[in-house]
Amino acid sequence: MKITLEEAARMVADAQTVILTSHIRPDGDSVGSTLGLMHYLREQGKDARVLIDDEIPRIFGVLPGVEQIARPAEGARYTADLLIVCDVELKRTGAVLDAVDAVRVLNIDHHVTNDEEAEYLYLNPDDAATCEIMYDLIRAMDGGFSLDAATCFYTGIATDTGFFRFSNTTPHTMRAAADLIEIGVKPNIIAVAMEMKSYDEVMAQVRAIRNLEMFYDGRVAAVFIDEERAKDVTTTEGILDKLRVIEGTQVVFFMKWLEPDTYRVSMRSKGTNVSRIAQGFGGGGHIRAAGCTLHGSFDEAKKTILAAIGEELNR
Ligand code: 5GP
Ligand code: MN
Repeated sequence: MKITLEEAARMVADAQTVILTSHIRPDGDSVGSTLGLMHYLREQGKDARVLIDDEIPRIFGVLPGVEQIARPAEGARYTADLLIVCDVELKRTGAVLDAVDAVRVLNIDHHVTNDEEAEYLYLNPDDAATCEIMYDLIRAMDGGFSLDAATCFYTGIATDTGFFRFSNTTPHTMRAAADLIEIGVKPNIIAVAMEMKSYDEVMAQVRAIRNLEMFYDGRVAAVFIDEERAKDVTTTEGILDKLRVIEGTQVVFFMKWLEPDTYRVSMRSKGTNVSRIAQGFGGGGHIRAAGCTLHGSFDEAKKTILAAIGEELNR
């Protein structure tokens, strides 16, 4: 059931024990939104914790409290008044959903592809980031922002907008970020931390990008990372930023081997609806940024995704 921001704020304010979670393969917005709200709730004297069923990439070490994010332990049960699922629909939270006994479940998201399965859902696809929603949510609770919370929320807003460059950046996005900077967030520190890679990671990406392929008269640029190369390419963060700049490209993507017969696809576009393509394969996202998982042989998966993109380009 969709609810308003004020209703969501009331649910959050009414809960005493809160568990926050988000999607697997965590990004700045998922970590920032859960951790930031955790800080706020603790500052209100509540019992709040973050459970995410994945490793947290080390770039998020810059976020205060990140070491307190826990992965649900095998067979463990967790109880709470409220489970808040941030930046994703319920089904993409790994083992968390089954491990938590919560009186109520609230989903807070900005993905237009949200399946709306949650008992209570505050969805605002006009917001660039779930962290931008969190900013409004806390304002709706008449709350202020500690530096810890502000740092987390700023990070999610910055990363989901490509540091305020993507088309989802609005005056409201900038105002929220400006308020958070006023509290003391240092944009340069967040930017440097988010872009940090090891020498090996950079070199592995360079090798992957050297094999980039162009399709559809240069309208599509793609990097295919097979099982062999996937061993080296331990981070895909930033690869698509290198492809997006190629003049004439409409859609850029990578397909990366994940496990036998399973590949991760991540797409970016300049207006082509890549979320529709992703949804066709059980994935989702936003019009200009989406992802999905493909199965089968590498060559089949490559053909399948290229055909789907071609179809969308010609719509
Ligand atoms: P990325 O390409 O950075 O992994 O994801 C781009 C956007 O699409 C993000 O907002 C992300 O949450 C969403 N997304 C990526 N993969 C999936 C998926 O498999 N399912 C859904 N529902 N959304 C996805
Ligand atoms: Mn997000």
